[in-house]
Amino acid sequence: MRYQMLQNQLDYARSHEEGTCRRVVLRSIFDSIDHLKTGNYKCNFCDVCIPDLQFNNEKATVLQQDAQVDEIPAQLSTLLQGFEQIALQEVLQFAIERGAVAGMFALVTNRLERDPTNLAALFLAGALARERQRETRAFDYLRFGFNEGIKQGLSPDNLLLFYEEGVLLQPKEAFEWLTQVGGYWDTEEGLKFLIQEAAQRFGTDSTHYRVLIVRWLLGRFNEVSDDCAAFKPTIEVIKNGFERLS
Ligand SMILES: [Zn+2]
Repeated sequence: MRYQMLQNQLDYARSHEEGTCRRVVLRSIFDSIDHLKTGNYKCNFCDVCIPDLQFNNEKATVLQQDAQVDEIPAQLSTLLQGFEQIALQEVLQFAIERGAVAGMFALVTNRLERDPTNLAALFLAGALARERQRETRAFDYLRFGFNEGIKQGLSPDNLLLFYEEGVLLQPKEAFEWLTQVGGYWDTEEGLKFLIQEAAQRFGTDSTHYRVLIVRWLLGRFNEVSDDCAAFKPTIEVIKNGFERLS
């Protein structure tokens, strides 16, 4: 939590590196109930907007309100109470289309200061950080979210949401999240899914794919040898029968 607070302060301090107006970060947190600033917003009253600090205005430029973008914070506060896959993807897509990524990122990471294991906030923070090309940090949120999701009993389908973002950043490491022994995908059905996934992501010549095929074949082999074991007594009876006949 402390770490997240420091990260958020660092975000504010570094917002000039990507030309994000200071107010996009600040006001997204404090105005979160009313509206969300988009990345295009320029207040013309901060050191990013006017680097030489020769302000011509006496006040910050008022944001042209975008009613739909303004709905995001209210939507978010409901969304962060659960983990609704489709709604999360929709709000994310919408924020990207409307250029509200920086503001929404400030909002969800601020939530993580107070609520560090909130799964919906972790997913959005990861996806938004990836969108902002902060890849290491994005991957950290997603990995932590995936593991936290397992602890909190999140369904496999929902866990895959973290994976699908993570695999775009670090494919091999993200794939290993799914292949843990005793994990959700350590079943016959799960293995089929993993084989398909490995073929698609890494190709059928990859070690990932081949190892899984061997695992599948071993599973089949064990089944066959179990079947043989089940037949054994019957074979004994038949054998004894033949012996008696001869
Ligand atoms: Zn500004």
